[in-house]
Amino acid sequence: MSTSSTENVIIIGTGCAGLTAAIYTARANLAPLVIEGNQPGGQLTTTSEVENYPGFEKGIDGFALMDQMRRQATRFGTRFLQGYVKKVDFGESPYLVATGEKEFRAKAVIISTGASPRLLGLESENRLFGGGGVTTCATCDGAFYRDMDVVVVGGGDSACEEALFLTRFCSKVTLIHRRDELRASQIMQDRVFAHDKIEVIWDTVVDDILGAEEKAVRGVRLSNRKTGETSELACKGVFIAIGHIPNTRPFAGSLDLDDDGYIVPVPGSQVRTRFPGVYAAGDCVDHVYRQAITAAGMGCQAAIDAERWLAEQE
Ligand code: NAP
Repeated sequence: MSTSSTENVIIIGTGCAGLTAAIYTARANLAPLVIEGNQPGGQLTTTSEVENYPGFEKGIDGFALMDQMRRQATRFGTRFLQGYVKKVDFGESPYLVATGEKEFRAKAVIISTGASPRLLGLESENRLFGGGGVTTCATCDGAFYRDMDVVVVGGGDSACEEALFLTRFCSKVTLIHRRDELRASQIMQDRVFAHDKIEVIWDTVVDDILGAEEKAVRGVRLSNRKTGETSELACKGVFIAIGHIPNTRPFAGSLDLDDDGYIVPVPGSQVRTRFPGVYAAGDCVDHVYRQAITAAGMGCQAAIDAERWLAEQE
């Protein structure tokens, strides 16, 4: 395995957090090396249109937004490497970052590996994801379902939040949960139960999402886990809100992770880890906001912290 010379900054991941960190560190003349990961551009590349990223009055295609961020980072001297980080060692500086093929040493590391929405694992879900009517983000896509009936799958705070948000646009929101009680906080439950646009279907799982021929969702096939009864429910959109899985496995042995696998920053900082010069930004740390703009903000924070920390070392 070949080892390159020591980098100033390695950024792991190319979503909003990673590319913003790249823009900032590149403009600070640090010539960052960005290791792209398995999904270059991150979660936004799976969204058709982004209407809530400031600066784009008429919205922007998610893929186009990430492409622009990447070009912006490249313009200031960011270098990109295709690869997936499998191993890190923050035991001694410069830190080790290794893909399957190559090893690197870096004075500072910004981890921005994001999180992946947990999915149901259905073939139809995969086929209809994005423009077909299956999505994992009501904030991003809810407005496209104005005056339509939609389904939200899940029973946690996210599912409740998505359902409540969707009532602003949709004619009816059906929340489908696999058990007979919600996991969500009481206040969210109360809001859901009080809303006349939301109906909850209990003890039920989605066996299939219907819409093969049209390439657009037309309904879901459901089964009741207690009675075994199956049914179909017509809808135009399916919002999956069954949790997220942070992409932090390579860091499990080195960084502090919470029970759900999110990186835990040191107290008083959103992005600093317990290793000096090692930062984490975006959805691999943040399980509360999970927005493109908040991830970008954290990428900026990590980059400025890294820049200052490197300057202090000189
Ligand atoms: P979560 O709390 O883990 O809830 C996931 C839900 O999806 C659970 O109801 C679970 O069912 C269900 N589920 C999981 N796998 C499933 C599957 N394969 N098929 C069907 N259903 C499945 O995740 P979350 O709602 O994303 O929340 C994550 C964390 O963020 C929580 O700590 C939450 O409190 C927090 N959060 C807070 C807010 C807020 O305060 N406004 C908003 C969003 C999130 P079971 O209940 O049967 O396990």
